[in-house]
Amino acid sequence: MKHRRLLGRASVFVFLAFICPIAALAQQTIRLRVDATEAPRKIYHAELTLPASAGPMTLFYPKWIPGEHAPTGPVTDLAGLKILAGGRPLEWKRDSVELYGFHINVPRGATSVDVKLDFLSTAETSGYSSGASATSELAIVSWNQLILYPQGKASDEIQVDAELRLPDGWKFGTALPVARSNGNAVQFKAVSLTTLVDSPVLAGRHFRRFELSPGATPAHYLDVAADTEQALNASPELIDRFKKLVKEAHAIFGATHYREYHFLVALSDEIAHFGLEHHESSDDRSRENYLTDPVSQMVGAGLLPHEFVHSWNGKYRRPDGLATRDFEQPMKGDLLWVYEGLTEYIGWVLTARSGLRSPELNRQFLALDAATLDNRAGREWRSLADTAIAAQLLYEARSDWEASRRSVDFYDEGLLIWLEADTIIRRQTQGRKSMEDFCRAFYGGSNGPPEVRPYSFDSLAEALNAVAPFDWKEFFQTRINRIGTNRAPLGGLEAAGYRLVYVDRASEALRGAEQIRQNTSAEFSIGLRLNPEGAIVDVLPEKPAARAGIGPGMKIVSVNERKYSGEILREEIREAKKTGVLDLTVANGKSISTYRLNYRDGEKYPVLERNGQPAILDEILKPLSR
Ligand SMILES: [Zn+2]
Repeated sequence: MKHRRLLGRASVFVFLAFICPIAALAQQTIRLRVDATEAPRKIYHAELTLPASAGPMTLFYPKWIPGEHAPTGPVTDLAGLKILAGGRPLEWKRDSVELYGFHINVPRGATSVDVKLDFLSTAETSGYSSGASATSELAIVSWNQLILYPQGKASDEIQVDAELRLPDGWKFGTALPVARSNGNAVQFKAVSLTTLVDSPVLAGRHFRRFELSPGATPAHYLDVAADTEQALNASPELIDRFKKLVKEAHAIFGATHYREYHFLVALSDEIAHFGLEHHESSDDRSRENYLTDPVSQMVGAGLLPHEFVHSWNGKYRRPDGLATRDFEQPMKGDLLWVYEGLTEYIGWVLTARSGLRSPELNRQFLALDAATLDNRAGREWRSLADTAIAAQLLYEARSDWEASRRSVDFYDEGLLIWLEADTIIRRQTQGRKSMEDFCRAFYGGSNGPPEVRPYSFDSLAEALNAVAPFDWKEFFQTRINRIGTNRAPLGGLEAAGYRLVYVDRASEALRGAEQIRQNTSAEFSIGLRLNPEGAIVDVLPEKPAARAGIGPGMKIVSVNERKYSGEILREEIREAKKTGVLDLTVANGKSISTYRLNYRDGEKYPVLERNGQPAILDEILKPLSR
């Protein structure tokens, strides 16, 4: 509370007195002062001064969050809201339909209103950027959670002058330009509301910055905050791979659209784990040992490449349905199979080209994704296009019945489709061109600061056609609109020299993923995904367990009369090759029953195996830069 007072009214008056001569600027600029000194106990305080004029006014809390593709602005956790004019409280009323809008009446003579608000942060790890974002040691400050702006104004038209107070001794990283900092108080340069919301701040007690392109312009930084000092000790070899990632991305796109780029890496076992792209930075959150444990790094190696690619595919070039003018207009996700799918493909390519994963491991992870998609019963009723349109629902969908519901499949299935597109470009041009040529043409251009260039499906197809003449519209439409089959689009894999097959030994990728995620996969054999206690996370409807009557939420108690463990289940699946049956005793709430599975195929784990075609996939994964 002490720091909060220091950020309060006295300094505002000083500031206003200073800027009054340039009243035009003051007219358009929101002053925002955020007190993050209590982030470790999960509450933030903000004070704003917004230009205003007499009459009705509606203040809006950001609702549609860029990159989350959904109305996930955490308005439930906006608290302590007080709106004042000339020091007097104003009555506010929430709009009864648009719950993110707050109506006020600005009194005569007032030229600004002051707003005080708290943001109630959480320890719960669901909910992406509104999920757990602060620990005793670090915090990620997402500005959208701490601001109100005049409803109806485009975010490009609003300037914000932000100040941030951090816990004592914490350091920070951000792409937001700093005007000056003094101890734990940071004054940022005034930027548009678009840029502010696009530029989170990562701060922490244990903080380390690695330069990834020393001496070059634009600069690239790996800013890491972690729960412990040891977690910052990335090996020089790993840092070299991140440097290579920057080089390899430049080799693909040919130009950059940022002034500098910051990977903001937060490492903690207590925070939500995900990545959120921004134009000049990415909010990358992972386990505490992400940079220091080889298995943790291997499993999560695709995170930074994916988010980095978004600076081009997603931020610079954006589907017109996602390029909204403010944080109120609904986003349309119909082209997310480009936004996320192509990013997933290029990110996967870069993961190998940078050395973050060997080509072999990269193929193993692709096999896992391809197999999951090749067992999606939900294809019978739902197209890939529908998963993109319904993205805002599917990001939050539960994991039970996922195979029947489908999930945000436009990521990994998008990867498969874009791999196929790459093989088509190579075939149509007799190997003279590849997806890189499309990337340079569509996402390259000239170096410069952030800019958004929206595109439509038609302009995407035209741009591809300019690289390699082909019926691209038909190519994509048949793949994204297909229903009534349970098979994934594996044509790209086949054309690139590989086929998806199942073997009886789990790959290094699968064993690593199981270790990190602490689950057991028997999905491609009997069709069960389980947690360590034997609780069934999901069933694959076409597989023996589901056919025997087992469903998600049940719990395996014993396997062939042996007490359940993941290892025992696997032993008995192997044993069933001889007997042809597997008896699972399963608890369903208070009732316990035994289900007999007729099964004799043993363990089944997906891998990619060479087919008779040239190994184009291997060519694709080779680095471009020296
Ligand atoms: Zn993404």
